[in-house]
This record gives sequence, C-alpha cells and structure tokens, in this order.
Amino acid sequence: MESAKVIDFQSLTENVGRFSLRNKTFLIPEMNRIGAHLLAATFRGFGIDAKVMDTYKGLDLGKEYTSGKECYPCQITTGDILYFMKKEEERLGDAFNPQDYVYFMPESDGPCRFGMYNKYQRIVLDSFSELNGVKIGSLTTRDGYSLAGIIEKGRVRDLRKAAYFSMVVADILDRLLWRIRPYEKESGMADDFIERSMHVMEDTFETYGANKDFDKILDKLDEIIEEGKTIIDSNIPPKPLIGMVGEIYLRTHVHANQDLIRVLERYGAEVVNASVSEWMNYTAYDRLRDARIGFRLNLKQLRLGPMMEHLRKLLGFGGDLFYQEFRQKQIYKRVRSLIDLAEDHKVADLENILKEEDLFCFDVGTEACLSIAGIVEYARQGYNGVVNVYPFTCMPSMTTSAIVKPLMNELRVPYLDTPYDSGFQPGREAATRTFMYQAYQHFKRHGRKKRTITPSQRNQISTS
Ligand code: SF4
Repeated sequence: MESAKVIDFQSLTENVGRFSLRNKTFLIPEMNRIGAHLLAATFRGFGIDAKVMDTYKGLDLGKEYTSGKECYPCQITTGDILYFMKKEEERLGDAFNPQDYVYFMPESDGPCRFGMYNKYQRIVLDSFSELNGVKIGSLTTRDGYSLAGIIEKGRVRDLRKAAYFSMVVADILDRLLWRIRPYEKESGMADDFIERSMHVMEDTFETYGANKDFDKILDKLDEIIEEGKTIIDSNIPPKPLIGMVGEIYLRTHVHANQDLIRVLERYGAEVVNASVSEWMNYTAYDRLRDARIGFRLNLKQLRLGPMMEHLRKLLGFGGDLFYQEFRQKQIYKRVRSLIDLAEDHKVADLENILKEEDLFCFDVGTEACLSIAGIVEYARQGYNGVVNVYPFTCMPSMTTSAIVKPLMNELRVPYLDTPYDSGFQPGREAATRTFMYQAYQHFKRHGRKKRTITPSQRNQISTS
C-alpha cells in the first residue's frame, strides 16, 4: 500500500456515515468474537455480504499509522482494517475495488475519544490513494444506533430486532463459557465446545434471523446449553466469583486484555463480565432520558415545536428500550431455567444505585455510569472481588477507578484496576495473583453469591 500526501477533510463528512450496504462487503471488526460473528451472520440473513475481519494480526500497522496518543482500541482497529485491505489487495490484484467495501466503525457522542476513531481512520484510509474509496459506515449513539438508510426502509426494524437478539445470544454464549470453563472435566473442552456452538449459532441466525423466527433460535440455544452442562465436573466445588466491568472493547477483546478472564480462572476464579447488550440498552436509555429532559424543559417554556420533537423521540427511544429489555428478559428467563447464568443489570436500576449512593450522575454519561453502578451491584450481590478492565489512559475508566477504589476499601471487597496497552506489564501477574488471594480470603469469610437452583435441577433433586 502506498501512502499519498494530500488529505481531503471534506471526506470526513462525505465518506463517514450511514451508507446502503446493498452490493457491498460489510466489514465488521472483531471486538467480542462471538458477538461479531453472530452479528455478521444476522446481516447475511438479510442478504448483506457481511464479514468479520481478523483482529490483532495488523497491530504493527495500527501502531505505524497512529501517534501513540490514541486509545488502544483505535490502534487495534486501525491495524485490523489496514491489514484486511492489504490482504484483499494481494488476493484480488487488479480486481480490487475499494468502493466494494463499507467498514463498520460506530461512534459515541460522549465526552471521550470514541467519537473520533472513525474520523481519524478516515484520514488514515484517505492517505492511501487506493483506499480512499472505502466508506466508513458509522452508527451513532446520538440516535440510539439507528440503522436507517443501510438497508431498505421496510426491513430496518426487523434488522434492528434481529441484530439486538444476536447480541443477547452472544452474551449468553460468553456467559456459558465463563460458567462452565472453571469446572470443565478436561482442559480445553469448554473452549472447543463454545467455538463449535458459535458456528452452529451463526448458521442458525443466518437461516432464521431475518424472518424473526426467534423460537427456532432459542430452541437451538437450549440444545447448546444442555450440552454445555455436561462439560461441568460436579465434583469441583464452587470457586470465588469475580465481577468484571470496564471499557467495552478492552473487556471483551481477549487479545487486547491478554485473556484476563482465563488468567483469573487459572488462579481459581469464576468470572462474570458485564455484557455487550448492557451498552445497547444504556444508549437507548440515555437517549430516552435526554428526550424526557428536553420535553419537560420545552413544556415549561410552552415551546410547542421542540416539545413535539422531544415527544417523538421519547416515544421512539422508549419503544426501543422497552423492546430490548423485554426481549433480553425473556431470553434470560428461558436460559436460566436450564442453567444458573448471571442475569444482566437493568439500566434504570444502575442509575438508581448511583443516586442512592450519591456516587456519580448519568448526566455526565460514558461507561463510567455502568461501571461504577455495576461494581456496587456486584459488591451488594456478594461477589468476592471486582476487576475494572480498560485501555491505558481511558477517561471513563479512570473516573470509575477514582470513585470506586475508596468505596471498595470501605466495603472490604477486593478490587483490581487493569489498564492495558500493547505492552506487557511485569507486575501484572503478581497483582492478579495478589488480588485472587484476597478474593479467596473474602470467599472463605463470606462465601459467595448463592447460585439460583434452576427448575430442571429442582426436578432432579425431587426425583432423587
Ligand atoms: S471509552 Fe476510553 S478507550 Fe474508549 S474512546 Fe473513550 S477514552 Fe478512549
């Protein structure tokens, strides 16, 4: 790839945004592996050629085309897209056409740098004469990640529903992995099983997602869970339970966080990570909250036009949130009747926790809202320790750390900050082991969050 000299800043508005995905290859970065694959499968079910790009193989390119001041996820994803394009050029030769691709990089309008990744990556792509035709497909939290304009109008709502469904199912598969791996009969069984299950669910979403045949998808999920349960060795006693929060990319990208969950498991933990759907629910909740505030303000001032505009938003975001929470609850209820996976937090409950404890405010925004309240919730539920995972210098995560550290000291719940960049911190292993030692002491003194007995376990008990 050859770097060009001239940068066209108009490109930041013209070539970043929502574009039709028809007859394009839609490139999805791999953040959470299962989530990315199920999302791509869902898009394929709608007739869109969606692909998950390999991740972390292009990290050297990412570092070469960033200054070092960017957030680590920006470096990784910059590397991912450049590496993919380099390989496509090699594969296709003269047939390579940059206009065939739309690269997916969403954004947020919060006070941190996530709103700038796609602009920055636009400048990088435009600096290569052969890549300036690659569009960046961006969804934004400003409109609650609306999908309008990327496929035919009549199918947008169905795509949104199926995409959300795929995210919840991906969360469940992740939680299933973390539930069974610490107790597996033989090392490696759980990983192999979940990888296989992910591919089964990809096929299932591709076949049934577009028709919203969600029962068929859940039937398949039931089968997977029943098989997953057979991997658990019932002779292994419960282990200390560790809750995880933090920046969404780092805590779900196993290469970026140096496979922290596995490391914690190696030192005796069972881990529950915050979900990806929680972030989706948060964006809808936050927009709804803004619309409610705007509506009240304009009502007081009797400004009819803006008032109606806020009312329209209120109904739209309210409907999205209601649907998402209803679906999520329905799926978890069904799954939890088979296995005791951790439930997800409701965003309104998290906001209430922040208000009750007077710790932080949703007006400030960012993932700190979820992380701070999530940590308090873990502590209240009897988790034996909490880990905050984030990119080095991540603003919301450092805010979280500053607020919860003294609180965790007071509550005497072990707490660990784990900031990451591409380097390997020499003290990380020792810090993790010390944390797990503390978590184990907490576990010995207080026990751990009680497992829910599932209906099928209850039946087994009563018939034995
Ligand atoms: S959340 Fe953290 S890592 Fe992500 S853009 Fe903001 S500051 Fe950077």
